[in-house]
Formats: sequence, C-alpha cells, structure tokens
Amino acid sequence: MTIEERISNCTRCRLYKNRTNAVPGEGTYDGEIVFIGEGPGKKEDELGRPFVGRAGELLDELLFVAGLKREDVFITNVVKCRPPDNRDPRKDEKKACLPYLRKQLEMIKPRVICTLGNHATSHFLGSGGISKKHGKVFEKDGLTIVPLYHPAAALYNPNLKEVMEEDFKFIKNKILT
Ligand code: SF4
Repeated sequence: MTIEERISNCTRCRLYKNRTNAVPGEGTYDGEIVFIGEGPGKKEDELGRPFVGRAGELLDELLFVAGLKREDVFITNVVKCRPPDNRDPRKDEKKACLPYLRKQLEMIKPRVICTLGNHATSHFLGSGGISKKHGKVFEKDGLTIVPLYHPAAALYNPNLKEVMEEDFKFIKNKILT
C-alpha cells in the first residue's frame, strides 16, 4: 500500500470521522523543497488536494515569484484530515499523524522545509513568533527550516502579501542558488 493509500484509509485519530477526503499532499518526491501547512480546509477536504481555493491560488503566485511551480515541490500539512469547523488540530491528532509526515520527509529528503503559518512552524520550532521567524533559516534535528506566513493570512491582511513575496524571493535567491 502506498503512503497516500495508507493516509486515505487511516483511522488513527478522530479526524477521520468527519473527513470527505484525506489530503496526503501532492507534488514531486524528487524536489528540494517541501511546504507544510497546518491541516486541510473545507475545499481541500472536498477535493482531497492541499492548498486549493483562494489561499492555494496565492501560494501558486508566490511559488511563481520563487521561480517554482507546484510540480517542482511537495505540498502537504501536519495533519492530513480536516479538523471540524477549521479548528486547530489537537495535540493527540498531530501526534497520531506525525509518522506520515516523517515518512514523507524521509522519502523526499528535501534541502529545505518551508512551514506555512504559526501552527506548522511551532510544530518544528516551538510555539509562537511567526512575525519574527518568517523568512529566516533555522537548523533543527538535521533539517533546514524556513518559516513563512500562511497564504490565508495575506487574504485577510493584504499588506502581508508584499512581505511574503520578499520571503519567496529570498528562497529563490538565497536558498535555491
Ligand atoms: S489526521 Fe492523520 S492520523 Fe488522523 S485520521 Fe487523518 S491521516 Fe489518520
């Protein structure tokens, strides 16, 4: 069974009960970058794909700024099933789902992990501070991590879009060269 099939059939935490589709992630297993969000939203749950809808469109635009396309990277989430009403994933849910993310990172062996938003960032780097951590490089447990704002944040605060574009230019010019 592939990892996608295992995730799609998974019942390891309560989130399986309300999902329409699990969202394992998509992209290449041969790329240099993995983008990791917190968890699927409504549209992602409907389609079984990560970062679709308006936040996904913005992510596509930002990838373009970095000279990347979706098929050049891997995009996934800390938890693979949508928390009801878009609540934050609980600690036990993240713990139950973590082996899948670990396995994906083992398979891809990315040069850099970009965490999208505070929740995904705190999963790797401890809590809080995306406003201070974004666009910087952290080394932790043998991983290179660059925290970024979550694209959905820029939908509510358009000033953030410029900041995010700068961060994606940084990825293009300093990380991928
Ligand atoms: S969120 Fe993860 S651990 Fe929970 S049911 Fe979905 S795939 Fe399994």
